[in-house]
Amino acid sequence: MSLSSRLVPLADAQRRLAALVCPLAPLEVPLAEAAGLVLAEDVAATEAVPPFACSAMDGYGIAATGEPAPLTLKVVRRILAGDAPGEEIGPGEAVRIMTGAPLPPGADAVCMIEDSDAARDGTVVVLGHSPAPGEHVRHAGEDVAADEVVLERSTVLRARHLGVLASVGRSAVLAHRRPIVGVLSTGSELVAAPAPLAPGQIRDSNRHALLALVAAAGANALDLGLVRDDEDLAVAAVRAGAERCDLLVTSGGVSVGDKDVVKAIIDRCCRDAEVLQVAIKPAKPLAFGRFAGGGVLIGLPGNPVSSMVSFELFVRPTIAALGGETSPPATARAIAAEALSRSADGKLHLVHVQVEVDGEGRLVARRSGGRASHLLASTVAANALALVADGAGVPAGAMVPVLPLTGAAWPASVRPFPVEQGERVGHEVEDGLEGLDGTCC
Ligand code: AMP
Ligand code: MG
Repeated sequence: MSLSSRLVPLADAQRRLAALVCPLAPLEVPLAEAAGLVLAEDVAATEAVPPFACSAMDGYGIAATGEPAPLTLKVVRRILAGDAPGEEIGPGEAVRIMTGAPLPPGADAVCMIEDSDAARDGTVVVLGHSPAPGEHVRHAGEDVAADEVVLERSTVLRARHLGVLASVGRSAVLAHRRPIVGVLSTGSELVAAPAPLAPGQIRDSNRHALLALVAAAGANALDLGLVRDDEDLAVAAVRAGAERCDLLVTSGGVSVGDKDVVKAIIDRCCRDAEVLQVAIKPAKPLAFGRFAGGGVLIGLPGNPVSSMVSFELFVRPTIAALGGETSPPATARAIAAEALSRSADGKLHLVHVQVEVDGEGRLVARRSGGRASHLLASTVAANALALVADGAGVPAGAMVPVLPLTGAAWPASVRPFPVEQGERVGHEVEDGLEGLDGTCC
């Protein structure tokens, strides 16, 4: 175990943790279970989409001749969506055809029903418009050509990707499964509701917040309960939990206090372990290591605000990396609605803020409440962390990078992750954040 009292820049701490994390082995996953997973193969179409030339309108399919309208044609049959195209049509003939129905051989254009006048018995139609070749026709392979690569590995599968996969005939894909993430609280003072509080006891709030964050980050959350500050009990709880998860997250007991149990956990359960003091505020203490079975342990600080900040900086990128994601969470930039003042202390400060859209459509950030790491209720209104670099802080009106909180609600008109700019987290912050880019194993 490496134990350092020196302050480690955030980016270094993230890199060292990232070095322990490998993407989980890909599995064949049915499409119905693949939303949110990361694709582990390049997907080439084996079928063209559409598979045949078909009508884009309800109307009449004809062979375009260039003759001026009106055109009087014999209607030889009707073709509905799902029908076979049938026989070739000849000169002077038309088919009544519905949207999505295959064009028969000989037809290469469609006149909309709105531009036609059919005889009462439907056997003859007068077209008021003479369509050009290809008009209102969807060509075979126009959307996707057979053999075309439609999706590349590392794509995070959203609804539109699943639609594309289904359209080319896939019922399952190779994808990284959702990590299983266990959450264990440590602390002899902790009690879960509804048990009454005895003198000196407090509620275990971290576990519930962290379990919800894990789920919001796209992993399967596993509640491992709470354990007293007893090294043997804590080690036993971690050993049992490690067998059931890919990542085990503890909170509490990672600082320098008496009875802080995480060092014992790390010593007795982990390899490649580190206990660090990260140059951030809040959430300075951090521990991580790897279990013999391959899983990862991250020990978060116990203070409730610290544990949630540490989740955003360390656990969320680890969940993403385990799930095969290659791009780190992105920041947006907002105008500080009020000064985010601080004093220089060698640390990056992470301030809970509420980001909103102002009357001119700009993102503005304002502090959500008090600053101390035990003031959990002060985070209720927050939807982002402002990254306030070391120094005197950010004056009112200046731009500040903001990291959207996992699962937080953003104003409906805002895209918290700018796709085009794709800024790396903490891009412009000295000693700022870096995603876990998975240089490992
Ligand atoms: P620790 O990191 O164990 O020294 O804890 C720091 C502070 O966080 C102490 O005031 C603890 O009582 C508090 N704390 C630790 N774990 C939790 C938890 N699960 N829920 C709420 N507060 C906690
Ligand atoms: Mg404790």
